[in-house]
Amino acid sequence: MKIISINAGSSSLKFSLFDMRNESVIASGVFERIGIEGGKYSIKYNGEKLQCEVNLDTHTDAVEILLDKLVELRIIRSLNEIDGVGHRLVHGKDKYKESVVITDEVIHDLDNFREFAPLHNPANILGIEAFRKVLPSVKMVGVFDTAFHQTMNEEAYMYPVPYSWYSDYGVRKYGFHGTSHRYITEVMKGILGKDNFRLISCHIGNGGSITAIKDGKCVDTTMGFTPLSGIMMGTRSGDIDPSIIPYVMEKEGKNASEVVDDLNKKSGLLGMSSYSNDMRDILEECEKQNERCLLAKVKYVRRVVDYIAQYYVLLGGVDAICFTAGVGENSAPFRREVCEKLACLGIKIDLDLNNKRGEVTKISTDDSLISVYVVPTDEELMIARDTLRLIGG
Ligand code: ADP
Repeated sequence: MKIISINAGSSSLKFSLFDMRNESVIASGVFERIGIEGGKYSIKYNGEKLQCEVNLDTHTDAVEILLDKLVELRIIRSLNEIDGVGHRLVHGKDKYKESVVITDEVIHDLDNFREFAPLHNPANILGIEAFRKVLPSVKMVGVFDTAFHQTMNEEAYMYPVPYSWYSDYGVRKYGFHGTSHRYITEVMKGILGKDNFRLISCHIGNGGSITAIKDGKCVDTTMGFTPLSGIMMGTRSGDIDPSIIPYVMEKEGKNASEVVDDLNKKSGLLGMSSYSNDMRDILEECEKQNERCLLAKVKYVRRVVDYIAQYYVLLGGVDAICFTAGVGENSAPFRREVCEKLACLGIKIDLDLNNKRGEVTKISTDDSLISVYVVPTDEELMIARDTLRLIGG
């Protein structure tokens, strides 16, 4: 059983090909600059990496090259070996509460929900259409970033704004990174050996969100109507007072979407430090006592601590906290600082264990009142698992 996981962006297409007998990755790679001059792709397989430059006018070009190469490089013998294609889909609004087999209706809905994810949903459709053209008889499954958060109750997902904004325009919290938070939940089910536990899942990458999970279900999450809200991120502000927007519009002669663009792309670590959105650069500068980088790091840690504390209360105590994604998996100093600030909850971590990398690790000490784990996330595998399940493998 071989399944391809696809993450299609407006000018890129990432893929992972899984052998689902042992859930191993047989090949993975990315096609970049689709529809832009200077297209290129790379394919990793069997310890090797193929890199090529080629013009990619459309997503269909990328998919055609991908499938040709899989056969040419003998990664698969023929296209018949591909049993299913799973697509990462960003926004399924409140209609899609779980993954689905992709039909015309799903594509139509993705298009209808376009204004909720103007960059992602149209790109997701391009990815689906490309595979439909090239592999018309292979079943496809859509795995929504928003789906895991559909178990939030009204109290969590409603904003305290005029009710008609919700009923007329769909203004509510949707949440994102759901596939990652669901993967972490599955891993923790295995580790704890039970279904009913209280978990805080911290997906801290360039984008970041924290989710409170009870008995395997999301009860609240930090991202909201869009991925801009919640914790401070690499380039996104996270929560701010909305009145800042018209104030800056007037000061800088910008329109609302330009200011929101600044909040998405020029804020967070990058904005506060005026230096970098990458936590590695920030930590390096902190060693040199760069004041803005020190401030950016303290604020970043504080936002994470604030939300963990909030969710601790919401869940009525916590069994485990997990760190995942680029910063969460790789930055021992970040985890140490967050956990030190949570010491009042009885959290203690082992500094040697905290320095381990690359695998699931319990970093809390035996006498810590809450277990703390590092769990590498694997959204691609989650997509492949859902695909296999829904195509009846
Ligand atoms: P996204 O999927 O949101 O683009 P990732 O989860 O890949 O992001 O995370 C990327 C971020 O991870 C980088 O911007 C960088 O800040 C951070 N990162 C990666 N490795 C390290 C490290 N060793 N120490 C600190 N931060 C790291």
